[in-house]
Amino acid sequence: MTTVRAAPEALAEESERRHRGGPFPQYRLQSWEGAFPGVICGVTEAREDADFGASGTSAWTFLERVESLSSQLGFSAAAWARQVHGVEVRRADDLPEGFTSPGEADGLLTGRAGALLVITVADCVPVYVLAPKRRAMALLHAGWRGASAGILPRGVEALCAAYGCQPRDLQVHFGPAICGRCYEVGREVLESFGDATGEAGRLDLRDELLGQALELGVPGAQISRSTWCTSCHRDRFHSHRGSQGAAGRMAAFLGWRDPANGSGGGQAGG
Ligand SMILES: [Zn+2]
Repeated sequence: MTTVRAAPEALAEESERRHRGGPFPQYRLQSWEGAFPGVICGVTEAREDADFGASGTSAWTFLERVESLSSQLGFSAAAWARQVHGVEVRRADDLPEGFTSPGEADGLLTGRAGALLVITVADCVPVYVLAPKRRAMALLHAGWRGASAGILPRGVEALCAAYGCQPRDLQVHFGPAICGRCYEVGREVLESFGDATGEAGRLDLRDELLGQALELGVPGAQISRSTWCTSCHRDRFHSHRGSQGAAGRMAAFLGWRDPANGSGGGQAGG
């Protein structure tokens, strides 16, 4: 009935840490990168020359930016799908070098080392799902439409079916997104999450997604959320809502570097 669920005590909060360096400064999830050497997980910083909006920039500029981001991060292949606020999830294992777009989808899966999954966000939640033992992962784009329609359960199901893992094996992180205080929504949005009060109100997408992840059987101790709000921190991030729709997009990314290609990949130390 209520849209805000209490977070479990074990839920970790983490501020992705800023990495300088060009062409694209980023915010990276230190805990995963420390625990799973070779994993690269984060989101780009909002800057005028670093807009990953697929419609605001030319197709060529967008493609070049994704390729240069992936090589900056030590990857030889990158996949990005045209996002439609749906629940379609596509597997991206058989990738050539460079940029590939496997059509329309709001989630991508891969088990291929050296392949970087990319989605674009500005307020919507980038959901990072990692199956460390299988070295497989999913990156999901969850706005209210996708979240209420079930992009997270679809993504987890697809990941587990493709790589032979269980929800209890997964790590899940909800990245920088609009917070519940900043996100005022209409009645129909809250109703799509089961709210029956018939009133407009505020929605915390990451709380909703957290409830879904727990329901799927992902242990609370393996779930974390970013403390960053894209609207509260508009100096660092693009916010669609915070800018009345004029914002660009950040690129959220997840991949496992290929230790064989030597681009600083294998060992991150300890
Ligand atoms: Zn906020």
